[in-house]
Amino acid sequence: MAFQKIKVANPIVEMDGDEMTRVIWRSIKDKLIFPFLDLDIKYFDLGLPNRDATDDRVTIESAEATLKYNVAVKCATITPDEGRVKEFNLKAMWKSPNGTIRNILNGTVFREPIICRNIPRLVSGWTKPICIGRHAFGDQYRATDTVIKGPGKLKLLFEGKEEQVELEVFKFTGAGGVALSMYNTDESIRSFAEASMNTAYQKRWPLYLSTKNTILKKYDGRFWVPWVDDVSAGIYASKKNIAMCPDGKTIEAEAAHGTVTRHYRVHQKGGETSTNSIASIFAWTRGLAHRAKLDNNARLLDFTQKLEAACIGTVESGMMTKDLALLVHGPKVTRDKYLSTEQFIDAVVAELRTKLCARSKL
Ligand code: NAP
Ligand code: MG
Repeated sequence: MAFQKIKVANPIVEMDGDEMTRVIWRSIKDKLIFPFLDLDIKYFDLGLPNRDATDDRVTIESAEATLKYNVAVKCATITPDEGRVKEFNLKAMWKSPNGTIRNILNGTVFREPIICRNIPRLVSGWTKPICIGRHAFGDQYRATDTVIKGPGKLKLLFEGKEEQVELEVFKFTGAGGVALSMYNTDESIRSFAEASMNTAYQKRWPLYLSTKNTILKKYDGRFWVPWVDDVSAGIYASKKNIAMCPDGKTIEAEAAHGTVTRHYRVHQKGGETSTNSIASIFAWTRGLAHRAKLDNNARLLDFTQKLEAACIGTVESGMMTKDLALLVHGPKVTRDKYLSTEQFIDAVVAELRTKLCARSKL
């Protein structure tokens, strides 16, 4: 039976990346996305050569497009260091694309594990995933730091319209040291609280906040304010209080790992790799599921759930990449216990096709 492609009404932003994950990304699109979805993609090549060619404008443009279309899926990218500047003969040591994007999106980062029943977990009693949200604007990301030479007085000065604040931070008496000033804004702190509550509400999971507000009474203490005012009080009181829950409209989904350079070096030499593509596939499914929710597209949501189930089902049926086989079989795992990068993706395709052909409720 021929599969009728699912029409996706609104565009998504695609941010392409580097090295092994760029290779995987291409296969995911060709084998798991394009055969099934009629999708309008706004493509941005965030691979390091193109970031260099565009003086990193492509990164900013991709983030601005994300604000416009509300959904982005991102491949892992190289954050250049001195070694990469040489390797790629870069014009400059471009900043971390993730940092640039998060700052433009004023983003909160949520990180969540993917659980397969047959893969041993670090803490074996934990059967449910924990999703961690991290406020990724300001703070250390935008701090101003400096090296202090010799003795002197360090001050913090705020020149406001209404008030001027001058605080003495420290009197250096010895050879000097280091100093740092950082900030956050009430708007960003509030949107972090809203994004966290929104995510917890959508998942119907309990929500916890962790700060160092006993040490940083004013700074981290500020992060408690949006959680205890009367708007959010309703969320604690009743899980059904959706009207109170602010809408987290824009998301960018990505794998938590990097570009897997070591495997890419093997791939470049024509060697066989066994790189796990699941987190990159989930970048697509989580982005597309968000598109589905925004557009009320039930067929698309069903597709994303089947694709995720196909990944987990493939692993649970014993077909997996080497990183997982190592966890199951130990360090002496033999070649027959795992699949190559492409074999694993092909196994997911087969599982997905089975699931899509099974009588759909839609
Ligand atoms: P990495 O790419 O995450 O890889 C570190 C090691 O973890 C790999 O060598 C491999 O271990 C294992 N690994 C990671 N992902 C895997 C996967 N999908 N399947 C199988 N094994 C996997 O970190 P890195 O080597 O430190 O960084 C490489 C590049 O990625 C750097 O240029 C860095 O800037 C970039 N990076 C990007 C992001 C991002 O875009 N979000 C995040 C982190 C790093 P074995 O070698 O033992 O097989
Ligand atoms: Mg590596």
